Amino acid sequence: MATDPNPIPGRLTIVSAPSGGGKTSLTRALLPRLAAHGVRACISVSYTTRAPRSGEVDGEHYHFIDEPRFLEMIAADAFLEHAQVFGRRYGTGRARTQALLDQGFDVILDIDWQGARQVRRVMPESCSVFILPPSLAELERRLRARSQDDDATIARRMGDAQREMSHYDEYDHLIVNDDFDRALEALTAVFLSPHLRRPLQAARHAHLIRELLANSSPVR
Ligand code: 5GP
Repeated sequence: MATDPNPIPGRLTIVSAPSGGGKTSLTRALLPRLAAHGVRACISVSYTTRAPRSGEVDGEHYHFIDEPRFLEMIAADAFLEHAQVFGRRYGTGRARTQALLDQGFDVILDIDWQGARQVRRVMPESCSVFILPPSLAELERRLRARSQDDDATIARRMGDAQREMSHYDEYDHLIVNDDFDRALEALTAVFLSPHLRRPLQAARHAHLIRELLANSSPVR
């Protein structure tokens, strides 16, 4: 990734959703949208003790590590946050996240509500978004479409999803993913709006503003 000699530190944004909420497709589609506006963003790659699913690549989807290594990382305070989700451990690397922010990248954390709580405590300036499915029926349809799970497993995953969704009110922004393009537009707006604040824009466009106001005598 290209580095900026004088970057403005990036922003950390947490995106949570129940599985079947559409979070992964939305955050992936978000990156080129932001790039088109000159915003450099990346999705953090978490550590996990769960086994890779078919098609998942180590270092790209997750850093797949074993339990002893995860415990070593906890002892070394190497996680910005970590939690047990569905009986497996997941965590966000502290040093890598900070390095990306320092280089001016907006960092997206695709983590659960437990991790979101920990991040808010240590980085109150972070922002958080919760993505909801448009209905329980649609959530169930998406869960069934994704796997060959039996009814009992689907019922358990629906229960997990409802427990995750019950934390929606801890988040700054709420987006209902009823239509992919509309939800993407809303998510893009959340990420773009801090970049459009006047002090940042005025610094970025100082040259343009000087030119536009050349020889003017403003009335104050
Ligand atoms: P999956 O195993 O299906 O990829 O993810 C299961 C859940 O773990 C998802 O809700 C996801 O957001 C959450 N998760 C993934 N990485 C992390 C992480 O680093 N920290 C926390 N707290 N949750 C995570």
